[in-house]
Amino acid sequence: MASSHEQQEVVATREAFARTRCTAWRLHCGDLRRPRQSLGERQVLRAPASGEGEPGRVFGARIAIDGDARAVCRASPVGANVAGMQRILLVLDLDETLVFADERPLARAPDLDLPPYAVYLRPWAREFLRHVAVHFELAVWTSSSAAYARALVPVLFDDPSRLAFVWSRERCTLQRDLANDTWVHAKRLAKVKRHGHDLRRTVVVDDSPEKHLRNYGNLVRVAPFLGDPADDELPHLAAWLERLHIEPDVRVVEKRGWRRHVPSPVSFMHAAS
Ligand SMILES: [Mg+2]
Repeated sequence: MASSHEQQEVVATREAFARTRCTAWRLHCGDLRRPRQSLGERQVLRAPASGEGEPGRVFGARIAIDGDARAVCRASPVGANVAGMQRILLVLDLDETLVFADERPLARAPDLDLPPYAVYLRPWAREFLRHVAVHFELAVWTSSSAAYARALVPVLFDDPSRLAFVWSRERCTLQRDLANDTWVHAKRLAKVKRHGHDLRRTVVVDDSPEKHLRNYGNLVRVAPFLGDPADDELPHLAAWLERLHIEPDVRVVEKRGWRRHVPSPVSFMHAAS
């Protein structure tokens, strides 16, 4: 047993989580020293040590553990989060993540003319955004201009009024990138926290890791979209994110190489088309 001051890792089998219509799950304690894990064979929850709550009772994002180092938490219906947890905030970048924009058009006609830019939506972008809106709270943070964001957001999102925020370059922090001897518009999540969001429940989707050096644990890095009409990054990302919305602290989940852990997103593509 962990001391009352320790945080204890609790690991549940995927089968247990799959039984989301049952009234309870039984979770088994894992190795306290285990490093970050990918959401593959097991789901990882962070729970307080014993003495901080009644065994088996979910409170907030935490789970009390009983004397024999096992825990039971109440299940939530399919599509909902674990009881008591906020929806994860998904902060989405625009350029090279959801769209590609350039002053020189590609060989094909753009999806949108936004002078001086020809804008191409990433394949499956609208379907992806509709899909993740079910489980996640959405927000946009681009290092482009506010006018650019205002023009593009209504094209991408069915209901922009539901976004937690739409931030642009003005919210970024100019920061020296010593590795590349350049300046970058960093997106510091401390500002998201000050906006009232819990960083344990915040994920940033961006193709530019250099803008997230201070919040690397929150970053899901996507391959940059440069106009390839066969790009399938977003269906894969949708499939991977489905496993994340029950995670109390997204920062403990290994995100590097996330795409290797995603099965074929054919079901998402079939359902969305
Ligand atoms: Mg970008």
